[in-house]
Amino acid sequence: MIRWWFAIPLWGRVFMALVAGIVLGLGLQAGLKAWGLHIGIAPDQAQAVAAGWIKTWLGPFGDLFIRLLRMIIVPLIMTTLVAGIVQLGDPKRLGTVGVKTLLLYVVMTLIAVSIGLTFGTVLQPGSGLVLTDVGAGAVAFEPMTISERLLAIVPQNPVEAMVKGDVLSLIFFSILFGIGIILCGPSAIPVADVFTAASEAILKVTQIVMEFAPLGVFALMAYTVASQGIEIFASVFKLIACVYLALITYMLLVYGGIIKLWLKLPLWRFFFGMADAQAVAYSTASSSAALPVTMNCTTQKLGVPQSIAGSTLPLGAVINMDGTALYQGILACFAAQAFGYHLGPAEYAIILVTASLVSIGTASIPSASLFLMAIVMSTFGVTPEQVAMILAFVLPVDRIMDMARTTVNVASDAVVALAVAKTEGEFDSEIYMGTKVYEPTARERDDLV
Ligand code: ASP
Repeated sequence: MIRWWFAIPLWGRVFMALVAGIVLGLGLQAGLKAWGLHIGIAPDQAQAVAAGWIKTWLGPFGDLFIRLLRMIIVPLIMTTLVAGIVQLGDPKRLGTVGVKTLLLYVVMTLIAVSIGLTFGTVLQPGSGLVLTDVGAGAVAFEPMTISERLLAIVPQNPVEAMVKGDVLSLIFFSILFGIGIILCGPSAIPVADVFTAASEAILKVTQIVMEFAPLGVFALMAYTVASQGIEIFASVFKLIACVYLALITYMLLVYGGIIKLWLKLPLWRFFFGMADAQAVAYSTASSSAALPVTMNCTTQKLGVPQSIAGSTLPLGAVINMDGTALYQGILACFAAQAFGYHLGPAEYAIILVTASLVSIGTASIPSASLFLMAIVMSTFGVTPEQVAMILAFVLPVDRIMDMARTTVNVASDAVVALAVAKTEGEFDSEIYMGTKVYEPTARERDDLV
């Protein structure tokens, strides 16, 4: 039985837990309505009683999962981000290639969040949802001016930021620390190695934590359905549709703009060349799992030399996540609509900055965005309890959205590699157009060995 369970891929187990949670939540509610009078429960109280029972008996499992998620946020961000930045330390990766790459990453990420915010605002994916019963978040929230919020990103004491789990400050400090390691050169190699090894270890811990996802989803889902009713699903499907539409629009607009208008290359050849990498990204929902295939497609089908692919793609897999950034923008709107928070120009601006930073700090593994959505939402007052409600709601269907955003994360890295190669004059148009088959150069062959 145990073997059978663990042989099912994690996302499959999460889906089964989702269904089981819904069945339990609805079943208990219906059962209490039907037989409640025999045990002294009036039909109109059945929903509240069912939710109360589930909260008492299953609540701790949901809380356990959320605590585990929170536990790994700080070490996950610090180690993966420092390790990612340190990769830039290779002299090959510095110079104009590095600057161009980073600039493109930043601009594309900002556009992605803006598109997410636009779709989230226009399509209103969270508008039908009423989740106002969990804590008066807006009251507890202290309003800050936009400059105060931006200044707060710079930690006065990085250790305090770690203790408090102040993720934006940690992202800021980790980026600077990574740059510091690079600037030290060979003397800091031991520190770089420690962070690289630590990031691998913490990714393993993340995998262990995710093994609890089915149990957490089961508990959270049963409670959500018992307390909110089945209508809750209409909004999830609206959210999924909104995310897919926004991602497709982003790809057509941004990739179209860069590849067709700026680089003057046919766009369809890009998608054709990247098909394998996109299939792997879509099915694994992990940019790092897709990285070797992305590398292959970029060099062998898009005409980008190994030297540029090798210096832009690994860093991109860690810090350039446009699909994730866009998703965070939509989720922020979703949460605001679900809990009735007003988003004005200042809130939009702060979400733009925060979601971009958060996408940099997101690990390239399945569902990593979920670990950080609280940060973006907290900027306009969403409380931890409300985040838990959103999590309960989004997590079971996150995989469907994760697959799509990871595909965009991966494709964006390749677009940047292509743009850098073309503008550096190192692009092979014959390979891109499919009129020549890729042959590694002697140096590339050495690199590959
Ligand atoms: N799964 C995504 C990736 O690996 C990260 C995320 O959860 O958004 O690119």
